[in-house]
Amino acid sequence: MTDKSAVRITLVDDEPFMLKLLGRILENLGFTALTSHTSGRAALDACTAAGPPDVILLDLNMPEMDGIEFVRHLVDRRYAGSLILVSGEDERMLQAASKLVEAHQIRVLGHLHKPVQPAALARILAKWSPPVTGRQRATQTAYSADAVQAAIANGELVNYYQPKVAVDSGAVVGVETLVRWQHPFAGLIFPDEFIGVAEAHGLIDDLTHAVLAAAMAQASAWQKAGLALRVAVNLSMDNLLKLGFADSVAGLAARAGVAPAEIVLEITESRLMADLRAPLDILTRLRLKRFRLSIDDFGTGHSSLTQLRDLPFDELKIDRSFVHRAGANATLRAIFEASLGLARQLGMEVVAEGVEDQEDWDYLRQTGCDLAQGYFIGRPMPAADLPGWIETWNTRYRKQYPDA
Ligand code: C2E
Ligand code: MG
Ligand code: MG
Repeated sequence: MTDKSAVRITLVDDEPFMLKLLGRILENLGFTALTSHTSGRAALDACTAAGPPDVILLDLNMPEMDGIEFVRHLVDRRYAGSLILVSGEDERMLQAASKLVEAHQIRVLGHLHKPVQPAALARILAKWSPPVTGRQRATQTAYSADAVQAAIANGELVNYYQPKVAVDSGAVVGVETLVRWQHPFAGLIFPDEFIGVAEAHGLIDDLTHAVLAAAMAQASAWQKAGLALRVAVNLSMDNLLKLGFADSVAGLAARAGVAPAEIVLEITESRLMADLRAPLDILTRLRLKRFRLSIDDFGTGHSSLTQLRDLPFDELKIDRSFVHRAGANATLRAIFEASLGLARQLGMEVVAEGVEDQEDWDYLRQTGCDLAQGYFIGRPMPAADLPGWIETWNTRYRKQYPDA
């Protein structure tokens, strides 16, 4: 528990009345280390003189220097504290401003509509924690190509599996394979720290081959144990450049003794492909061989309508940025439901990613979405943990829906 009276908070709002009101709310909540300024300029000068505060409550609409401009100055000064945005603007404006601030790597605890509700402010401030010092993820240097190559060769990559469940029945229908690097010293390393390196240095084919081979062996083991699970594997667009890829995947499946229909290949287009001939050739052939194709992270980056038009996908995964909190957010809901409708008309199965809490799950149950995946249901786990997890999940599901 943090000592509230030690959290240094700066209030910036051009209306003196608002400053007084916010000050009173904060004091009632136990936050007493407060300073107030009626302009961004004055607040910045105070930061220079007295050092940056832990939290800044910032009004977006100010006559001289508006909140967005103020943030730019904070970025220049490498502000390491947190921000709370306050505005009379509508929710979408506040969300856009939050995204912008986060894009500058400044932590946004939340945003508040005027008139400010004390309870809402208390909830947001409860999220505050001292900044993490020392080695931070964002500043970490990437692993070298040699290190990644050695990891693949030495079998240090391990597959984790995250469950996908049917929204209407709770049935566990499959898993997504998510690779991790069990580093001898650094511990478990997540894919965003080495997939890019593998792609940039021509190692992604070897990496995918290792992941696919292990996933297919696992699929076969589960089948033998009576667990009918569809196993999904992520492909990189860079895997779709050599025409031999489709045959190599088919060869792996045949050797492991799994039917292609039990394997889902998830594809994200993280960068624009100039020449689509090879990817089209490979994906169409994989589909002819009855592998299931899934368009991953739908709605982001280049993962969009062009691919839907050109490629024979069976499954559409709605990106988690349109799933989490969609129930309470009209913009997200509109995008989610449009994506769902689109997939329906194209006869595709729909997976919602990033189902993080009960509200997300309850919302999904009303939408008719087919499958769900996310921390609320189950985190990625080693293969050995899956049977136990399935039992726990089934019990949990039956308890919540006794009539199901
Ligand atoms: P993805 O395919 O979209 O995988 C889902 C990611 O979201 C996973 O992160 C998963 O752990 C995370 N996730 C799952 N549920 C939730 C949730 O409820 N909330 C939030 N916030 N996140 C959730 P992970 O394992 O770090 O993987 C990141 C990305 O790395 C994957 O995104 C995928 O694009 C890529 N990746 C993973 N394994 C492989 C692989 O074997 N080959 C290639 N080419 N890419 C891979
Ligand atoms: Mg995926
Ligand atoms: Mg995804």
